[in-house]
Amino acid sequence: MSVRDALTARAPGGLRDRRGRMLHDLRISVMDRCNFRCPYCMPRETFHETYRFLGSRERLSFDEIVRLARLLVRLGVRKLRLTGGEPLLRPNLTDLIGDLTAIEGIEDVALTTNGTLLAKYAFELRAAGLQRVTVSLDSLDPQVFMRMSGGFGGLEEALAGIEQAARAGLGPIKVNAVVQRGVNDHTVLDLLERFRGTGVIVRFIEYMDVGNRNHWRRDAVVPSRELLARIGARWPLEPLQPAYRGEVAERYGFTDGAGEVGFISSVTQPFCGDCTRARLSSDGVLYTCLFATQGMPLRDRLRSGASDEDLLDALRALWRARADNYSEQRQEARAAEGARKVEMFYIGG
Ligand code: SAM
Ligand code: SF4
Ligand code: SF4
Repeated sequence: MSVRDALTARAPGGLRDRRGRMLHDLRISVMDRCNFRCPYCMPRETFHETYRFLGSRERLSFDEIVRLARLLVRLGVRKLRLTGGEPLLRPNLTDLIGDLTAIEGIEDVALTTNGTLLAKYAFELRAAGLQRVTVSLDSLDPQVFMRMSGGFGGLEEALAGIEQAARAGLGPIKVNAVVQRGVNDHTVLDLLERFRGTGVIVRFIEYMDVGNRNHWRRDAVVPSRELLARIGARWPLEPLQPAYRGEVAERYGFTDGAGEVGFISSVTQPFCGDCTRARLSSDGVLYTCLFATQGMPLRDRLRSGASDEDLLDALRALWRARADNYSEQRQEARAAEGARKVEMFYIGG
């Protein structure tokens, strides 16, 4: 049985979207706020002191998140990733992790964080059942890091977070770096130098045109092919098989056995054909694409007594109607842009 067939067999009813894709991953934004202002995600000029973030009643409660996760497991979801904003700013996050990991059918629960609060929470997160963390860290150069975090610094805290996460057993730890030409592309080899041979997997992400406010320009994107050539010239690389179907990162191993490096190339090599992800915003809107202009608001339905069956019908219909493939038609989509896209901090990466 192929991996795809195996996945279908596990998804009752074999729910598929209009392009034949199953629902397998759910990314949950547990917090819209962040203690950074990375210019590519939450630029300061928009997300300033008086920006109105969600109030605590506007965010989904843990019970509401768990209820939706349970329903989505019935439609095929097997993997959960908690994200944000900065997820570790959500009070008592470990309680939610405990509840999510206990859901029957969930095979993997991970977290994406900027790492600043990770040293404090790593052991608690592991004890609550979290399996893995991904830490976003764009550069080891303190000045570059400062610029890319929007002036917040926090490099030492993020590195301490990675170390503590390793001690707590939250591995394999992945480090995600967004690469922007002229900003941090000259520091990618340093990042690899530091983590090669440690078991930490560095992955380079092409700078994406998420949201409406990050001043994206195509010429600031460093194509993964270009990075691959530069890295391969320093440390010979060989392609590795995807760890599972639908894996977004292309993997390469260092031929000297010092681990691997990944590339997430959604601009130059889109992977919409295998995209099995849905995203739940902190205020309970379910999106079927990172670049969506609209999602399905669920919070009011949850709060006005909708039954599980009603919710399941709505969720099934949403997935069946899905045809998203933004990255495959970025050029046309941007040219036709009228509709506003959802912001990344709001639905998570
Ligand atoms: N605050 C957490 C963090 O930074 O890891 C979680 C949320 S953040 C939105 C999730 C991921 O999205 C991060 O790895 C971040 O680098 C990535 N991201 C944000 N804006 C991006 C952009 N314009 N292009 C590519 N990746 C982006
Ligand atoms: Fe915050 Fe993460 Fe966005 Fe940076 S990428 S502003 S850390 S949510
Ligand atoms: Fe999935 Fe949308 Fe990204 Fe394509 S553009 S891979 S459909 S999230």
